[in-house]
This record gives sequence, C-alpha cells and structure tokens, in this order.
Amino acid sequence: MKEIVIIGGGIAGLSAGCYAKMNGYDAHIFEMHNLPGGLCTSWKRKGYTQVSVGVNMDLSSDANLSNSVYYLYELDKPIMIAGEEKKHIHIKNYAFDQTFAPKGKSTLVVAFYVESAYWEQIYQDKEKYKQEKQNVETAVISSLEQIIPGIKDKIEVIDVSTPMTLIRYTNNWQGSIMGFINGLILNIPRTLPKLKNFYMACQWVGDAGLPGAASSGREILELICKKDKKKFITSNA
Ligand SMILES: Cc1cc2nc3c(=O)[nH]c(=O)nc-3n(C[C@H](O)[C@H](O)[C@H](O)COP(=O)(O)OP(=O)(O)OC[C@H]3O[C@@H](n4cnc5c(N)ncnc54)[C@H](O)[C@@H]3O)c2cc1C
Repeated sequence: MKEIVIIGGGIAGLSAGCYAKMNGYDAHIFEMHNLPGGLCTSWKRKGYTQVSVGVNMDLSSDANLSNSVYYLYELDKPIMIAGEEKKHIHIKNYAFDQTFAPKGKSTLVVAFYVESAYWEQIYQDKEKYKQEKQNVETAVISSLEQIIPGIKDKIEVIDVSTPMTLIRYTNNWQGSIMGFINGLILNIPRTLPKLKNFYMACQWVGDAGLPGAASSGREILELICKKDKKKFITSNA
C-alpha cells in the first residue's frame, strides 16, 4: 500500500488524511502539538481584535441576538478600535448552545477586522499595548450599552484578544485568523519546484477558513489519485 506522510494535523491535514484512507492509502499524520485541529484547537488561557463578553443576563430570547451568526449593528456614536473609526459592530450570541454559559447568563463575541501592523507596533511597549486593549474594552462596552441598555453593569468577564494574541498562541502569519483574503491571492501552486511527491494543503493555498482548508486537503488526494490513475472516492459507503 502506498504511504502518504502528512505534516500537520490541522483541518487541511486531517481532511487529506481522511481522503487518503478512503482511497486506500496508508496515511500518517505528524502533528507537533499535543492536540490535533490546529487553529481549531481551543486553549485555556487567562485572559484577537475579538472581545469576548460573559454577562449576567439571559439574552437567549433576544430576537436579533439569538442566532449563531454575527449580527451587524450601526452605532449612534462610532468607536475607535486600533486607530480605526468603526461605525458598526458585529455581535455573535452563543445562546444557540447552552453549554457556553451558565443558566440565566450569556456569552457574546464582538469582532473587528483591523490592521495587524498597528498592534505589532504597539506591542513593543507592553504598557501601551495594555492601555490600548483597555481602550478597546471600554469602547466595546459603550457600544454594547447602545444596543443592549443595562448590559454595562451585568458584565462579569471580558477578554480582549488582538492579532498579537493570535501570533503568540498560533504563530499564524500577521495574526490572521484565516488565510489570504478570498479573491486576493487564489490558485497558489500546491507543489514546490524540484520537490517530487510534495503537495501543500492549508488555508493559504485556496479559499480561506475551515471550508477552504478542508477542501484543500481533499483536492490534494484528488491530485494524487489522478496521478496514480485511480478513481477518487469521497465516501466509505
Ligand atoms: C479564533 C479563530 C476563529 C476562527 N473562526 C473561523 C470561522 O468562524 N469560520 C471559518 O471557516 N474559519 C475560522 N477560522 C479559521 C480556521 O480555523 C482556519 O482557516 C483553519 O483551521 C486552518 O486550517 P489549516 O489546516 O490550514 O492550518 P492549521 O490549523 O494552522 O494547521 C496546521 C497544523 O500543522 C501543525 N504543524 C505546523 N508545522 C508543523 C511541523 N513542522 N510538524 C508537525 N506539525 C506541524 C500545527 O501544529 C497545526 O496543527 C478561525 C480561526 C481562529 C484562530
């Protein structure tokens, strides 16, 4: 049986491994972390620009908030996030899964896309960095208060994470949570010159995010099967 060695057990690697097994290859995944999943892994930590908020309010029946998607809200008073004026905020309410918060309480996530260069520069001065995170926290609380009056005094836990947080935990390029912006750089070659039988599968080589990473793993196996003149199988049935 032909062997396939996969370096990295992120979604792309795991996807490549699944399709390799389905197509009769002997796949070996080498992951350097003690958990598979890559950027999907969760970490226990003390503390992106993402602000996670735990509130002592039951927001599960809120018509707009009670859904698993990010809702976009226009702000009466714009806020400054990492040197950029934001007139809207995206809020995601995790009430769709009761395990995210104790009964009667709620977990919200507010996320902003910002330039990582801004954070990289501020990071050189730890006090400045801490202060800027505090500024983000204050700005987000004031904007949440515009949307959910009374929430300010009900916040029990709040955590601000920046692109630097992502670099610290994942070393992902520029603290990006996904790959390149869709449409910006597509069709990156999956191979490297002079390196035989080597293929790249990950969020950076096709469409970004989980679907992009998973489908890139699948595409590689499709390529290998084509090269081996085998019918590509996509199910165990
Ligand atoms: C906070 C956050 C939120 C996100 N939200 C979403 C979302 O809502 N929707 C969405 O579609 N996507 C989301 N993403 C993006 C998505 O998680 C990633 O695009 C996807 O997981 C990337 O998978 P990957 O396999 O390409 O890379 P990675 O997950 O980075 O996997 C690479 C793996 O290779 C391992 N590795 C690296 N070098 C070596 C080596 N030399 N030897 C052995 N192992 C090695 C790493 O440890 C890692 O496990 C989010 C990401 C983050 C961080």
